[in-house]
Amino acid sequence: MVTPRAAGFSPQETPQSMDRAGGKSDGMKIGVLALQGDFEAHRKRLEELGAEVVLVKNSEQLDRVDGLVIPGGESSTFLQLLGERGLERLKRFSRQQPIFGTCAGAILLANEIENPKQAGLGALDIRIRRNAYGRQIDSSIRQGKFGAAPMEMVFIRAPKIDWLGPKVEVLATEGSDPVVVREGNVMAATFHPELSADKRVHQAFLSLVEEFGENHDASAE
Ligand code: GLN
Repeated sequence: MVTPRAAGFSPQETPQSMDRAGGKSDGMKIGVLALQGDFEAHRKRLEELGAEVVLVKNSEQLDRVDGLVIPGGESSTFLQLLGERGLERLKRFSRQQPIFGTCAGAILLANEIENPKQAGLGALDIRIRRNAYGRQIDSSIRQGKFGAAPMEMVFIRAPKIDWLGPKVEVLATEGSDPVVVREGNVMAATFHPELSADKRVHQAFLSLVEEFGENHDASAE
């Protein structure tokens, strides 16, 4: 496999050093994978919500964050930029800590990727189909539901989740499609919540990070 830029992502790093600063959103350190895609919009949103954001460009930075966001972009390009070692390091992170992928990020997290088949992190028990809305509707703004409440959703060359494992919880839908899902510490959205004014999806991720930190602290005592 070609690894044009492994970006210092290597699998033999020391395990995460848990330098969490407190348990609330204020003081939570959230990484945003900043190799490609719209990472700046995520940074802005997370900062608005009180998190401290680290733009993650190498694997060492993963040791110092409480959770990670993988932004939208092009999932095949992410794979190239990460290289096999980078992918392995991210896989390890996704087994240990909260992680949230949007659009291309959601594709990377899936167990099974179609159209075409490609490698991923295998962190979320879903089957996802890339570019599932067809070429003619590259992007659209749709009304979906976050829980029971309406939500504006921006889809850009978006994938569709066409199969869900039994442990996967649906947090939001558009029509009959699940568009935000969660399984344990892993969350994914097929659209771009960072491009709407609505903060609820990122807030849900920060709550997950907080909850995870509390459980981790409790089990460490
Ligand atoms: N179509 C892209 C892919 O397959 C995802 C698009 C996006 O992240 N907005 O990776």
